[in-house]
Amino acid sequence: MFERIAGNERVKEVLRRIIDAGRLPGALLFVGEEGIGKKLFALELAKALNCRTPTAAGPCGNCSACTRISKVNVPEDGDTEELKQILWTDHPDVGMVVAPKRVLLVTQMRQIEREANFRPFEGKARVFLIDEAEKLNDPSANALLKVLEEPPPTSHIILITSRPAMLLETIRSRCQMIRFSPLTPAEIEQHLMQNNLADRASAALRARVAAGSIGRALSSDLETFVEQRTAMLAVLKALAGNPNEAQLLRSSEQLNEAQYKEEFEARLDVLETLIRDAWMLSVGASRDQLVNEDLFSELEKISGQIDPDRAASWILQIEDMREQLIVNINRRIATDALFVAMASPVAPPRKYLP
Ligand SMILES: [Zn+2]
Repeated sequence: MFERIAGNERVKEVLRRIIDAGRLPGALLFVGEEGIGKKLFALELAKALNCRTPTAAGPCGNCSACTRISKVNVPEDGDTEELKQILWTDHPDVGMVVAPKRVLLVTQMRQIEREANFRPFEGKARVFLIDEAEKLNDPSANALLKVLEEPPPTSHIILITSRPAMLLETIRSRCQMIRFSPLTPAEIEQHLMQNNLADRASAALRARVAAGSIGRALSSDLETFVEQRTAMLAVLKALAGNPNEAQLLRSSEQLNEAQYKEEFEARLDVLETLIRDAWMLSVGASRDQLVNEDLFSELEKISGQIDPDRAASWILQIEDMREQLIVNINRRIATDALFVAMASPVAPPRKYLP
């Protein structure tokens, strides 16, 4: 099971054990950066439950159930009326909902509730994916709570998000959380080659600058990404050693410039991967475990200047700010405050293991 998906070996192990024991929970929460395969894992789980000719290793991947589950029917023209319903795969027991615009709707959650109460039409279990679950607002989250409380044993709901802090605690606490890691450059390169997504030379380059995300490795805009990463590396450098507050405030100003408005979240993502890498090196990880492997020598230098506990707490501080941004505080002021707090020598009490 999961052989065709790159990376996240630990997650594969955990999910395999849960499935073999027949103890897949009714509600799961898949957490991790964009573009690292969370949706593929969810569909693979749906196959594991519904495959007609499973092998000892898991779903066959070739039977009519497996092939139909692979096909999620997302309307090509982005028809919003269609997007307001469950997007079924070609299999009648497996579907996904996405936010038609900025939020997931109450009606979508009610449809899931209704459908989850049916017995499987064809396979052994019904599986519903909720993509970008951070787009649940209070009303739709509350509508979903009902079915999360007591899903029928033959129905499974998988929430997928890169922003778990934005979910209501009541939702999070009802789901079993599975945390996905960014992929290493070697894993991404292998995936691109195996699936004929890039030739050897460009696979290597894309993998190296992808910072852990296959989605990013495939996006054509590598130049923008490299620029973003250079800017965020300057932030990390200013935080390490003797913090350089003037540089941090300049970086905050740049991060909030109008031309980068759409990139704000993406830049924070990149900053998190850089912090994670420096933290990993500071606790003895090797070069091939880095997401930004091509920056090894710079990151190694930085790792010698940071306290691992503080570096780990930086990621929490960034996540906390993202949470505050939902309630529409001024982004520039919030970023200034974030960087100043990160530069302050007092280590926050919360623990975080990236
Ligand atoms: Zn199969």
